[in-house]
Formats: sequence, C-alpha cells, structure tokens
Amino acid sequence: MNSHEIVSRLKLSEKMALKYPRVCAAIDLDAILSNMRSMHDNLKPETKMIAVIKTDGYGFGAVPIAKMLETEDYIWGYASATVEEAMELRDNGVVKPILILGYTFPFSYDTLIDNEIRPAVFRYDQLEQLEERALLKAKTGWNGKVKVHIAVDTSMSRIGVRPDDEGAAFVAKALSMKYIEVEGIFTHFARADEKDLTDAISKKDIFASFIERVEKENNCRIPLHHCANSASIIQIPQAQMDMVRAGVTMYGMKPSEDVPTDKVKIGPALGLYSHIAYIKDVPAGVPVSYGGTFVTDKPTRMATVPVGYGDGYPRSLSNKGYVLIHGKKAPILGRVCMDQFMVDVSDIPEALENDEVTLIGWSGDSHISIEELGDLSGRFNYELACDLNPRIPRLYIRG
Ligand SMILES: *Cc1c(COP(=O)(O)O)cnc(C)c1O
Repeated sequence: MNSHEIVSRLKLSEKMALKYPRVCAAIDLDAILSNMRSMHDNLKPETKMIAVIKTDGYGFGAVPIAKMLETEDYIWGYASATVEEAMELRDNGVVKPILILGYTFPFSYDTLIDNEIRPAVFRYDQLEQLEERALLKAKTGWNGKVKVHIAVDTSMSRIGVRPDDEGAAFVAKALSMKYIEVEGIFTHFARADEKDLTDAISKKDIFASFIERVEKENNCRIPLHHCANSASIIQIPQAQMDMVRAGVTMYGMKPSEDVPTDKVKIGPALGLYSHIAYIKDVPAGVPVSYGGTFVTDKPTRMATVPVGYGDGYPRSLSNKGYVLIHGKKAPILGRVCMDQFMVDVSDIPEALENDEVTLIGWSGDSHISIEELGDLSGRFNYELACDLNPRIPRLYIRG
C-alpha cells in the first residue's frame, strides 16, 4: 500500500535518492490545487465542482488529493468508481459527499447508506433494494434518507435511463420513494473532447429538456444537475449547470489533442524518477535485452534503469521511448523487461551510476510529458497514469 508522504519541492531529489532510489512518482499537490482553481475561475462563482478521483485518483493518489480539497469551498465532493474506493476515502477521514459514478451492486448498500455514499441509480431494483435496507435501518431508529443521483444516458449507451417516457417514469418512481432523496441527476458526454462540439451540445440540450420535463411533472427541483467533464469545463460553458465533474485536467493532463488548454491554465503534476543501476561500455555487435531486437552498431555506453512494465512503464516503449539524464535524451535500447531496461548514454559522458533518471517530468530544462509517452507507446494518457503500479512509491509535493 502507498504511503502518503509529503515533502517540500527543495527536498524532493534528496529524498528520492536516499529513500526511493529505484523508482518514485512525485505528485505535485500544489499543481493539482492550482489546476482545480483555474478550472473554477473559468466557471460561474456559484458552480460547484466534483473532483473525480476514481482509480486511486487516476493513479495520483485519491486520499492525499481529497484531504487537500476538503477545505476548498467550491468543491462539493468527490466521485469514485466503486464503494471500495469511496470507503478508502471515508476510512481516511474524508467527510465531503462521495458519488459512485457506475453501478453499485446490492451487497454493499448497507455500507453506502451508513457512510452517506451516493450511488448512481438507473435500475428499479436499485430503488427497491435501497428502500428495503433503509426501512430496516429506520426500524432501529435511523432517521436519514438515502441520497442518490439519477444517471441519464444521452451519449454513452453505458449506464443510465434514457431521456424518454420510460426514463421519466423512473425519475417519478425515485422521487416517490419514502426513504430515497433524489439529490442529483447527471449525464456524461461521449464527445466533449473534440473540435466539433455539435454532438455534446445537442446532448446537453436533450438532458436539460428532460430535467425540465421531469421537474415540471413532479413539481420539484432536483438540487444538483450535472453533466460536464474536464473537456466540457474548458469548452462548453453552457454545460455548467449546478456542478461540474473535473477529472483529467485536475491532474494536469489533456482531455485530448483537440481541447485547447490556453483558456484554462493547466500544469503537469506528475514526475516519475529512477536512478542508474549500472553503466557499461560495449563494442559494436552486442545484442540488448530479450530477443536481441537491438544490436549495437558502434561502441556504446549503456545504462540500466531499474524500472519495467511491472511498474506500469509500457513495454511498447521498447526501442521507441527515451528517458532524460542530466537534461539530455537517452533512447531506450531493446525491449523493456518487467523490472529493468537499458538506455544509450553514449552522448551523455557525465552520466554515472546512481544518477537521477527522469521517465516523466523535468530534468534540468528538458521535460517529458505523459502525453508524449502516450504517443510513443501507442497508449492513452489516462491509461498510462492509471497503470502506474502501486509498487511505485508516491511522494507528495506541497509548499
Ligand atoms: C471519469 C468520468 C468523469 C471525468 O472525466 P474527465 O475526462 O477525466 O474529466 C466525469 N464523469 C464521469 C461519469 C466519468 O466517468
């Protein structure tokens, strides 16, 4: 399990070299906070935000991020993917609301209710089972309500009721339940991260008219309407509604190549560092790593980096990727192994054993972004971050 050790920017290199020399992810909490604030500056001041911290905060660490955001008053709460993720937050003292974005299976409904974790609902049996559990609790003196958010499917065909007569009947049913409180209603766009926003905007209009219809039919106002993800926060101001859900841009990553990042100031928040385990000089004609897919064509100075795909460093970077050492590029030679790979340091004569290696982030004035690594490895930036293995220690930078 990861520790949530916090370190100052000045002490970072020293701490990594002494305590986590093999590999270490440096997570810049200041950058995450500043990304969140600059997104909020782009919204109406009263618009609330959900920090989407599913998959352990896209690999960055859900608990330290949530703990930092607890005191930000424009943050309504957090979104997780599972009850287990939500409970990790609760177990670490996080008290703001938590919404589960996907389907929650009935075995955990007691946990949900006891910890005020809001499920997304869209199946009648969810309503019935939540009501049944709540009734049992009410008999033992509990006098709360189960807060839920209704998922509406406008774009993804993933979860949610359709914005039609059947969907409206579901909303009416949810609103009529004795122990259920419909706190929110939300949808998710499939195509908000493109240049042409026609699809997302039309889906937003469909969602808004559906809400207008159900609120009129049931003579109520559902408190929290929400539909915007990161790309929509940046590109579709009319999709703000009561609340927005910020994921990828909070972590300083781009929703896609098509989303402009000049309107909202977003900075990278992740560094991935190692140290050289071994240096050797070899002549021409020497094969490197499994399969001998690379053979030196000249006398070569090579460094071994003690990180591999077992850490989530993509094997598809074999013979394609590079790292930075003393601010200079060192290309990967041969295949990336599970726990080690080799790089060419022939052009970096100052490189020595134990020197710092940058896999993602800054080295002197040079930078490797997670997007560039994604392009080189044929992977999605979100996926790369999520795949950083828990065996990589995380250090959190604050102040
Ligand atoms: C993951 C997710 C988000 C956040 O999306 P980003 O593109 O990372 O901002 C928002 N809403 C839902 C329903 C999601 O599943």
